[in-house]
Amino acid sequence: MQPIDVLVVGKGNAALCAALSARDQGVSVAMLESATVEESGGNSRFAGGVMRFAYSSVEDLRRLTDIPDEEARNTDWDSNTIEEFYDDLYRVTSFRTDPDLSEALITKSLDGMAWLRAQGASFVPNYGNQSAVVNGRRKFFGRFPIIVNGGGAGLVEDLTQTAVKKGIEIHYETRAVSLIYDGERVLGVRARRQGKPVEFRARTVVLACGGFEANPEWRTRYLGPGWELAKVRGTRHNVGDGLRMALDIGACPYGNWSGRHAVSWERHAPEFGVVERSHDPYRHSYPLSIMINAEGKRFVDEGSDFYNYTYAKYGAEVLKQTGQYAYQVFDAKVKPLLKSEYSGRNVTRFTGNTLEELSAKLEGVDPQAFLRTVREFNAAVRTETPFNHAVRDGRCAAGIDPPKSNWANPLDTPPFEAYGVTCGITFTFGGVRIHHETGQVLDLGYAPIPGLYAAGEMVGGIFYFNYPAGTGLVSGLVFGRIAGSGAAAAVKGA
Ligand SMILES: Cc1cc2nc3c(=O)[nH]c(=O)nc-3n(C[C@H](O)[C@H](O)[C@H](O)COP(=O)(O)OP(=O)(O)OC[C@H]3O[C@@H](n4cnc5c(N)ncnc54)[C@H](O)[C@@H]3O)c2cc1C
Repeated sequence: MQPIDVLVVGKGNAALCAALSARDQGVSVAMLESATVEESGGNSRFAGGVMRFAYSSVEDLRRLTDIPDEEARNTDWDSNTIEEFYDDLYRVTSFRTDPDLSEALITKSLDGMAWLRAQGASFVPNYGNQSAVVNGRRKFFGRFPIIVNGGGAGLVEDLTQTAVKKGIEIHYETRAVSLIYDGERVLGVRARRQGKPVEFRARTVVLACGGFEANPEWRTRYLGPGWELAKVRGTRHNVGDGLRMALDIGACPYGNWSGRHAVSWERHAPEFGVVERSHDPYRHSYPLSIMINAEGKRFVDEGSDFYNYTYAKYGAEVLKQTGQYAYQVFDAKVKPLLKSEYSGRNVTRFTGNTLEELSAKLEGVDPQAFLRTVREFNAAVRTETPFNHAVRDGRCAAGIDPPKSNWANPLDTPPFEAYGVTCGITFTFGGVRIHHETGQVLDLGYAPIPGLYAAGEMVGGIFYFNYPAGTGLVSGLVFGRIAGSGAAAAVKGA
């Protein structure tokens, strides 16, 4: 049998972008997906669908979705210029992001979005997220005013349909196990399909099969003790297979291997994500709360920034607390601003008409210490600064440890509510080193490994310590395209 030109491992966003971009160059493409059809699509399928790309005006957004003239004029669409995107990415990664990879990510992001639209994805204005009416005018303030229609699930569905239409064969329930490698170049993949070994010969292989977030043993090994106790927000299939396969043949590990994206997550959420209820466990309104632990103490500056710049690192802070849980506490003043999942199903919520009543209900929290913490916090709020959730309002609680930098409100208006959270891991930051122009995996001497490419969560060197919301899908898009066209170009040039 003829080898496949480009064999893509995985069927999430990065894999689909790689497969489609290779196919558009006229080569043969097949995909291996370890999950069943119903479970397929990886973390991409769980994604809320916000995407952070560079744009400077509404005209850039109009390349991606139809915005009527009046809506274009009457809305403050915010911006995410190339410079702003650089600033955010460098700031949240403490200036550790790889310069070549981040340049590719940022400068190719808008064209990538337009390409995605041409591949069948659709986008709509993101009115439900970080958007508010301020002085009679709709304003976006999260740098991502466009969202994928149908979220990540819609994106995966649309791209899968296009892949099938374009003649890309998708092998479900087929888990890649190792690379076929002759010591010089990669020649295919050994896999297991429904329990039986099977081999796929290929001219090039693109690994796009996620990080190791769903593997408790690797999490403990690389992220540290306690990480086996985190809940997994997304797929159970990303157990580090692709990373292991690449490292086994000498790929160069790269990036923040002890780093990860992990958030505050419903305390009693299931062990893995449930795609039909993927939004239920989100608890991203904590900048309006105080967060307290079992000892009744605060432990982070809940309002140090908008949630999209802190949520990915605060999950680790929750994991560090006694029992790996915390409570987000709100009063009635901010209740209307809470995201919809707070009033959904499967929510660990306690309510009290007084703080004393609430303190007595909070499972596993020292009630006296909790009341002391609230008293100290309330006294520290600088109420002379007006509250405004649409900007970093500087309304702080100062002189306490930790301080709260923005959106501080005394808890004084009943009923009071507390939401139980634990740590939910999204994905891991450690990966392999790739060439930023071809997507080719580099070996320990930084030489490209012939026939091997990688994309998506498997790419190391982009995220360190933290992550600006909406970048995962765009990273999969940009580096998926690069890897797919890099692999196809190698096949055609051979
Ligand atoms: C709940 C949640 C919400 C999120 N929201 C957003 C958001 O709004 N915006 C954003 O930008 N990012 C978001 N993310 C992050 C984003 O989803 C990921 O960063 C991105 O989708 C990763 O894409 P990927 O293609 O690299 O991996 P995945 O989409 O995880 O795809 C990996 C694929 O590989 C398959 N696979 C694994 N091992 C094997 C194997 N051995 N053989 C064959 N196949 C294998 C998996 O089944 C899967 O299909 C979210 C993530 C989660 C979990």
